[in-house]
Amino acid sequence: MNDEQTNDQQANDQQASDQQHDDIKQQRHQARQQRLKQQVDAAVSRANTEKGLMLVITGNGKGKSTSGFGTVARAVGHGLTAAVVQFIKGSWDCGERNLLAQHGVPFAVMATGFTWDTQDKAADIAAAKQVWQQAEAFLADPAIDLVLLDELTYMLSYHYLPLEQVERAIVNRPAGQHLVITGRACHRRLIELADTVSEVQSVKHAFDAGIKAQKGIDW
Ligand code: ATP
Ligand code: MG
Repeated sequence: MNDEQTNDQQANDQQASDQQHDDIKQQRHQARQQRLKQQVDAAVSRANTEKGLMLVITGNGKGKSTSGFGTVARAVGHGLTAAVVQFIKGSWDCGERNLLAQHGVPFAVMATGFTWDTQDKAADIAAAKQVWQQAEAFLADPAIDLVLLDELTYMLSYHYLPLEQVERAIVNRPAGQHLVITGRACHRRLIELADTVSEVQSVKHAFDAGIKAQKGIDW
């Protein structure tokens, strides 16, 4: 065998060995995926309870209200009925409200347009109690499949609404009714009551770079 032939032979051997290695990797990958699929299938077949879910979307990052409204859009897209209560910024323009109201979603908004730097506590408490009446009506109505209580968490952290009253309405809502609550620093008790809780973390936000809130993205 000359040098050239030896080199060819070595290259062929290497190719065969690489191929064998790839085949083994592929087989291992398939076996792993098969095991994963079995586990997921088993979990899916175990998860056979149907009930109205309570979701909490909390944390300091952006995306809590958009997630809540996204869930409303998802439900309405399937022909479910939904209702929304906005506990702050009620008087502000709101893209989701403009859209969802056209699709028959009733909105109840807090009259004062309560914000972080609220000056008139008595008026805010009165407005919170008033809009809560509407929230209670939604939470008692079996014809509503999904209720979004956007920014409810602040009503509890500011002690504008009694926790017991909020808990009672949540616990006694119709068995099949879904509920989404958004807002930072969610009260521990609501987290305990919820079925699904997500905490949105802020990695960075455009506002910190001096960029003002943008229509269609921030409101
Ligand atoms: P979004 O409505 O965009 O989903 P959110 O509901 O998670 O936001 P909120 O605390 O309700 O957040 O604040 C609403 C407004 O504040 C939005 O304009 C949003 O872009 C902005 N915002 C949210 N998170 C942050 C943050 N970490 N830093 C600065 N601004 C924020
Ligand atoms: Mg929000």
